Parts: sequence; structure tokens; C-alpha cells
Amino acid sequence: MINGKKAANRSLRWGMIGGGGTSQIGYIHRSAAQRDGNFVLLAGAFDIDAARGREFGQALGVAPDRCYPDYASLFAGEAAREDGIEAVSVATPNNTHFAICRAALNAGLHVVCEKPLCFTVEEADELEQLSREKQKVVGVTYGYAGHQLVHQAREMIAEGALGEIRIVNMQFAHGFHNEAVELQSESTRWRVDPRFVGPSYVLGDLATHPLFIAETMLPQLKVTRLLCSRQSFVASRAPLEDNAFVMMEYDNGAVGTLWASAVNAGSMHGQKIRVVGSKASLEWWDEQPNQLRYEVQGEPVRILERGMGYLNPRALEEDRIGGGHTEGLFEAWSNLYRRFALAMDATDRRDTDFLQDFWYPDVHAGLMGVRWVAQCVKSADAGAVWVAC
Ligand code: NAD
Repeated sequence: MINGKKAANRSLRWGMIGGGGTSQIGYIHRSAAQRDGNFVLLAGAFDIDAARGREFGQALGVAPDRCYPDYASLFAGEAAREDGIEAVSVATPNNTHFAICRAALNAGLHVVCEKPLCFTVEEADELEQLSREKQKVVGVTYGYAGHQLVHQAREMIAEGALGEIRIVNMQFAHGFHNEAVELQSESTRWRVDPRFVGPSYVLGDLATHPLFIAETMLPQLKVTRLLCSRQSFVASRAPLEDNAFVMMEYDNGAVGTLWASAVNAGSMHGQKIRVVGSKASLEWWDEQPNQLRYEVQGEPVRILERGMGYLNPRALEEDRIGGGHTEGLFEAWSNLYRRFALAMDATDRRDTDFLQDFWYPDVHAGLMGVRWVAQCVKSADAGAVWVAC
């Protein structure tokens, strides 16, 4: 159980790029990183507008001389200080991730990067290699993957509770962009512009979340080929899709489907993962994150509640309040940041034994997401054909 003790008995000196006062995701990064004192925010280039970023940074309690106008001056300024930052989080629009992550690694920093890590497999390969060379962590914020019940599912599947895995049914299908909301909303406008998001919208923005949760639940399964069909129901978004369907085949003979959509009118979030085995199924839905449905063929449905003693120790390890009270997005993110801190600390100590089996969404997870999106785009643009993965 987490009780607020620092995970690695120290706080990492930490900075942020992006995540400014008007951003959607910046606060969740700060809340998760600082939740248990694992990171302390000391510097930032928080905003594309330098003056607004400086004002916001100071309002967060960052010293005025450590509120930088851009990432390059942040890395240079912090490198010149004895107490410079050790880690940085990147919460800017997608087109900037690759350049900022590369610069951060070259500056000797650990990185937490938003998804998608970058646009091309070549870029992702370069970041993976650089993180190895520099011996620095790159964590990727597939936020809900830190939820305890995702890990309960992983343990149950590993123990054989479902039997042989046959079907993985994934979706992240919300309805918030069923109309051209980008005409009014700044943070939607860049999401439907290829200059900022590269080759895809919902595949890169949404689909990789349930895909990674399924990878977390089923680490032994590998996608061998996929077929993708994508649509732009709001026509002005073409060639970027606001809806996509993907069919997948796995190396054990299982099949998967993934529905990603921003035009699922009326749906709030709609991120669900259902794993079907030969004996039973498990289903987890991010809007009801405290319950994991366990359905054994021929028996009444069982609802496994977060925080209860009957769960696997791995699912209880990162609990904060026990059963009954709700935990959700903020705690799942805090669990991830706690793991990033542990991985960074162990990497600094060159503790390879610790890192060997230590789970967190790492640079390779980022690379797998980028590769999967690239193959989806290739399939869809060739007329929805099967492509190898
Ligand atoms: P946003 O448009 O709401 O905010 C972007 C922020 O970055 C703003 O503060 C902006 O001023 C700042 N910024 C832009 N360019 C910058 C630069 N070059 N240097 C410094 N600051 C810069 O975007 P958002 O919705 O917060 O998304 C940011 C990133 O987070 C995206 O990559 C998005 O895909 C990702 N995201 C992830 C999740 C998740 O669940 N993991 C959820 C939402 C967004």
C-alpha cells in the first residue's frame, strides 16, 4: 500500500516542457509526479508563449530564473547549475516530442514523454538507442495503464484464469469531436492538423492507450498482422481520421479488434478492454475503473473491486485507500510516475537486477505504439489491406 513515502527515498529534481496554464494534461503530470514527493518541480518552459509560461511557472512556485522561454534554454540553463534538474516531462503537442526528447537525452536527463513518442519508427528507434547509450529512462504516459486492476488482470491471465486467450476487444471511442469543435478549441485544432500530429489523429491520440493496456495485460502476445480502415466523418479533417477500426492477429492464434473514435456521439470516454479466453473473460472500463468484471462461462458474473484483500498482491501494492473509496485517473498516473522515479533511481545506481523485471511504459512501449500506428496508416491508405507487424 502506498502511504506517501518517497518511492526511492529521494526526490528527483524535475522540470516540465509544455503543460502550461491552458493545457489539458499539464496539471495531471504535476499532480502525479509530486503526489508522493517523488519529483520536485524546479524548472520549466511551460508554454509556447514565453511570457505566459514565465508567469505560470512563478504561480506554481518555480523560481523566476528557472522559468525559461524555450526547451533549449532550459536544458542549457539547468546544465550550468550544480542543482540542475535530473528529469524532464514533455507535455507539448506531438510534433515537438522527438526533438525535445532527443535534446533532453543529449543533455543527460531522464525523460517522461507524452504519447505518441514521435511520428516515425526511425525516430523511435533513435530515441531508444539514445536512451540506452546515455543510460537514461524514457517513460511514456499511457496513464490508465498504471491502474491496479489492469495489473490484477495481467496476473490473473498469467495464472491461467481465462484459459487460452482467444479474443482481445479494445476501444477508446469518445464523442467530444463529433462536430468541427476545432474551429473553437485550440487544443483540438492541432490534433486534426498533420503538421502537428503527423499521419494520424485518433490512431495516435486514442488507440495506443487501450493497445498498451492490452499489451500490459497480455505481455506474452505479439501482433503479427493487422488491417485498418479509417474515416474522416468531419470531412475537413481528411486525410486524418476521426474514426478507425483495426483487426489484428496475434502469434498465439488469438484475434483482436480496436475501435478508436472521436465521433462516438454521446460517449464520455469509452475506453474498454475485454480479454476473452477459452474458460472465462475479463473486462475493464476506464469510466468504472474500480471494478474488473470476471465472467466464467456458466457461472454468475463476479465484480472484482479495487483495494480488496482477495486481489493479487501486485494489484494491492499500489493501492492508497483500500476498497470502497474510488481511485481512478489521478492515482493511475501517480502510480506510473512513482514507477518512473524508481526506474530513474535504479538506472542512476546501475541496478540492473532491479530493472530486469520492473514494469513501466518505457521507450520500447513508445516505439511499439509508433510502429503500430504506422502500420495502421499503411493498411488503411492501401484500401484496408492486411499488413505484417
Ligand atoms: P494543449 O494544446 O492543451 O497544451 C499544450 C501545452 O504545451 C500548452 O501549454 C502550450 O502552450 C505548450 N507548448 C506548445 N508548444 C510548446 C513548446 N514548443 N515549448 C513549450 N511549451 C509548448 O495540449 P494537451 O492536450 O495538453 O496535449 C499535450 C500532449 O499531451 C500531447 O502530446 C497529447 O497527445 C498528450 N496528451 C496525453 C494524454 C494522456 O492521457 N496521456 C491526454 C491528453 C493529452
